Amino acid sequence: MAEIDAWIGLGSNLDDPVKQIKRALGELAGLEQSRLHAASSLYANPPMGPADQPDYVNAVAWLKTSLPALTLLDALQQIEREHARLRGRHWGPRTLDLDLLLYAQDVIDSARLKVPHPGIAERNFVLYPLAELDGELRIPGMGSVADLCAHCPATGLKKLEVD
Ligand code: ATP
Ligand code: CA
Ligand code: CA
Repeated sequence: MAEIDAWIGLGSNLDDPVKQIKRALGELAGLEQSRLHAASSLYANPPMGPADQPDYVNAVAWLKTSLPALTLLDALQQIEREHARLRGRHWGPRTLDLDLLLYAQDVIDSARLKVPHPGIAERNFVLYPLAELDGELRIPGMGSVADLCAHCPATGLKKLEVD
């Protein structure tokens, strides 16, 4: 099967988030029928939802993959489990969150998988790392990442200097 571009949002705010994100990038690089084409910088930002939890570290990975979208979601959830993610309250703290942001230019609306990931347009911690990798990238039905950034302030978002 042909390779397509898939974009993954990574987030962590527990148990050394920088380490969690770096390890997850390595695991994404090791996925079958896939390769890690590029990864954004790491960003720190305040939590979305409940405020009584640590800041998040976020990043975006650009994969080239021939895995079908649902198989890729299975693999992402397997990696989350390997990071001992416990499902607590909605938008509560977690060791690792992997969201499938975009899968080629596909629009998917099933119970388990919605692509483009809902909320992309309002989330600066998704848009700015995406723009770092490809500002021209188009989100189906929403326009280019650069245009979306122009309408979504980077308030609170801090690029981290880590090696
Ligand atoms: P949000 O999706 O608003 O960022 P969240 O990441 O905290 O919230 P989760 O608890 O991680 O939400 O995921 C809940 C469910 O979302 C998962 O079981 C999964 O089946 C579903 N889901 C739907 N679309 C996607 C997607 N594009 N990427 C990842 N999970 C998705
Ligand atoms: Ca999420
Ligand atoms: Ca998620």
